[in-house]
Formats: sequence, C-alpha cells, structure tokens
Amino acid sequence: MSAFYRIPPSHLHQFVQAIWLHAGSSAEESRLVADHLVAANLAGHDSHGVGMIPSYMNSLDQGFLQLNQHPTLVKDAGAVITLHGHNGFGQVAAHEAMQQGIERAAKLGIAAVGLHHSHHIGRIGHWAEQCAAAGFVSFHFVNVMGDPMVAPFNGSDRRFGTNPFCAIFPRRDAKPLLLDFATSGIAFGKTRVAWNKGQQVAPGYLIDNQGQPTTEPGVMHQAPYGSLMPFGLHKGYALATMCEILGGALSGGRTTHDATLVSSHDAIFNCMTTIIVNPEAFDAPAMQEEAEAFLEWVKRSPQSGDAPIQVPGEWEEQNRQERDQEGIPLDSNSWEQICAAARKAGMSEEELAAFRALAQ
Ligand code: NAD
Repeated sequence: MSAFYRIPPSHLHQFVQAIWLHAGSSAEESRLVADHLVAANLAGHDSHGVGMIPSYMNSLDQGFLQLNQHPTLVKDAGAVITLHGHNGFGQVAAHEAMQQGIERAAKLGIAAVGLHHSHHIGRIGHWAEQCAAAGFVSFHFVNVMGDPMVAPFNGSDRRFGTNPFCAIFPRRDAKPLLLDFATSGIAFGKTRVAWNKGQQVAPGYLIDNQGQPTTEPGVMHQAPYGSLMPFGLHKGYALATMCEILGGALSGGRTTHDATLVSSHDAIFNCMTTIIVNPEAFDAPAMQEEAEAFLEWVKRSPQSGDAPIQVPGEWEEQNRQERDQEGIPLDSNSWEQICAAARKAGMSEEELAAFRALAQ
C-alpha cells in the first residue's frame, strides 16, 4: 500500500486554483473547479475530488476539455430550459445551469433544466446541495456520454457509463437528506483510488474482459478492459437505463452507442436533466415534521452490528466534520500525479515546491 498524506483543505484549494490558473482558466473558473473538487474530497468522495486533475489535464491536452466556456441557453420553454455546455468545465456549466434553474423554480414553483455537452460535472451531490441551499428539492438524472464502463444485467461487456442518480431534501434544522450515487456497484473513480493504493475491490463489482468476476481494479485501467457491474442486479441496471435516457436523450444530449463512443478515457462528458421543486409550493404544512418523524423512527431500529444507522447524506456530513479538522487524506500516487499535472499546466518547480511542502 502506498503512503498517504493529510492536506489542509484551504491549502489544497489554493493549489488546485493555481493549477487551473496556470492552465489558462479565468480566476472564477479556477475557483469553481477548486471549490468542487475539494468539496468532493471533504464529503469523502475521493473518487471525484482532486484526484480527477490529471485526467482533466489530459482531456485539455487532447483537445476535449475547453477552458473558459459558459453554458448557453438553446431553448427557453418557461419552466423547462435547455443549455449547451460547449465541452467546458462541468464545474462551471453545472453551477450556472443550477443557478438558472433555481431562478425559474423560484418564480414558477418547479423547473427542469437539460444540460448537455458539458465536460465532467463531478460529484452530483454538489449540484443538489446548491439547490438545497436555495431551499429547493431536486432530482438529477445523469449519463456519461459515449464512455461505456458498465455491463448490462445479464451482459458481459461495457455498454454505458456509471450514470449517477441524485435527489435532495432540505431539512429545517439539519443538513439535507442526500441520495447521490453511481448506478454501478462502485463509481469508476473508486477503482482508480483502489488501484493507486494497490488495493483490491470487494467481490461482486467487476468482471474481466472475459466476463468473469474479479476483484482487481486494474481491469478498469489497463487493456484488455473489463467492466463494472450495475448495483442491485436488474434494479440498478434499470435505473442506469433511465439515467441514460432521461439524462442523455431528454436533455438534448447524446446517449451511448456506436456513433457516440469517445476514444479517450479522460474525455468525460456528462448530460444531466435536473428537476428543481419549491417544497413550499405543496400544501404540506407538516412536511418537515413528517420527514423528521420518519428519520427518527428508522434510527430507532435495533442496530444489527457495529455500524450505526445513518440517513442519506449523513456519511458525507461526518466526513466533512472529520476532514475539516484532520485534513484531506491523499495517497502518494495520486499526489504525484497531481503534481505532474501542475507541471504540465506550466507551474514552476519553485512554486510547486511550496505546495509540495503541504503534503506530510
Ligand atoms: P456511494 O456508494 O458512496 O453512495 C453514496 C450515497 O450513499 C450517498 O447518498 C450517501 O449519503 C449514502 N450513504 C452512504 N452510507 C450510507 C448509510 N450507511 N446509510 C444511508 N445512506 C448512506 O457513492 P458512489 O456510487 O461511489 O458515487 C460517488 C460519487 O460519484 C457521487 O457523488 C456521484 O455523484 C459521483 N459520480 C459522478 C459521475 C459523473 O459522471 N459525474 C458518475 C458516477 C458517480
């Protein structure tokens, strides 16, 4: 297993911002990318945190990721808007798409936002949290355009992406309830994290290029490639299909098939259909009390083992509290890959040395 460091979140944020400034991003874009990636690590989703930087840098190098783009409104149907992301940073495209959707939902009670041709939008919970911070409930269907990694239920090779689904419910006196996961048994990035750490993944999540079960994360990173499996047998596969169609087709984007396959693993493009709802538009004066009564009720179930009963979103909140105090853990392989990306962006050895001193 490789060594790991604990890096203070504010220092990591400065480093990420500096990397993208060197690469050519505006100050605002660099900040939004740093906000998102560091927040993903703080939430415990290292698969979607700063470890994505080398892949983004490769995508930029290969001409896929476009810097300093803003999504444009291609159709305005009142409560439904469609935005084109122009292959720009998803951290900008999704942020601005949510801003526009929130404005519509504030006026109309409900809004739907189709966002397509955005570079990787990362941890979807971040966009749901943006909606919840404004007081809204939201649902997000996402596909990963043209980058197959997951085998269909009863299939044996990769046909679609890890297509996340996400939903959020703001609570009055607590952090929002947040469901946010890939429809594959594990997110692709978690195989990268395991691979970088020299660890195996648990059984049941991966098959090799022959369709045989394996626990070796390398099958997702070196040819001949294997596949991830959907979570929950036919149920996860069915939800993944709906994320592909509602996220990829309904949004005005593309789904995964022969004509849309992308040649590079670093060129990750997402489409997302988001529904944003003002909870106050319902005639539900006891909504919060009913929600709390349920959560309290489930938590009273006798614990079956050592792990506590949690509600969706609690895991992320616990990570935030711990990592805010203790720093963000990063394995040395990921750290070296990020430093190599910083050099590629044009950071001098002197400036890099100052940031490298942060890893301990
Ligand atoms: P995961 O398996 O870690 O599941 C996370 C979800 O489970 C959260 O809602 C969390 O609160 C909940 N949870 C965790 N423990 C719980 C417990 N004990 N009780 C109740 N709920 C609990 O997530 P994942 O599938 O590894 O996905 C990781 C991240 O990757 C997500 O943020 C997702 O949005 C992102 N992702 C993005 C893309 C993309 O293309 N942009 C693709 C796939 C995944």
